[in-house]
Amino acid sequence: MPIYDYSCKSCGHEFERLVRTGDTPACPACAATDLERLVTAPAVKSSGTHALALKAAAKRDKVRGGELARAQREYELHHND
Ligand SMILES: [Zn+2]
Repeated sequence: MPIYDYSCKSCGHEFERLVRTGDTPACPACAATDLERLVTAPAVKSSGTHALALKAAAKRDKVRGGELARAQREYELHHND
C-alpha cells in the first residue's frame, strides 16, 4: 500500500496516510475530508525495484567509495538468504 502526503484544505494540517485505492482519508486534526494529495512518495517498494536501487547505489559507491559502500555490503550480506 502506498503512503501519501496530504494537506488539509480546511485547516492546513499536513500528514501521511496509508491509502488503499478508493479510500478517502480524513484529516487527523479536524476530520475534514477535503484534502489535497501532495507529491506521492511510495514507501513500499517491490523486491525488483529494490534490487535495481541496490545496483544503482553500488555503482555510485564504486565512484564515491567510503561509508556508504560498506553499509551497502553489510546490507547485502545480511539479506542474502
Ligand atoms: Zn484539517
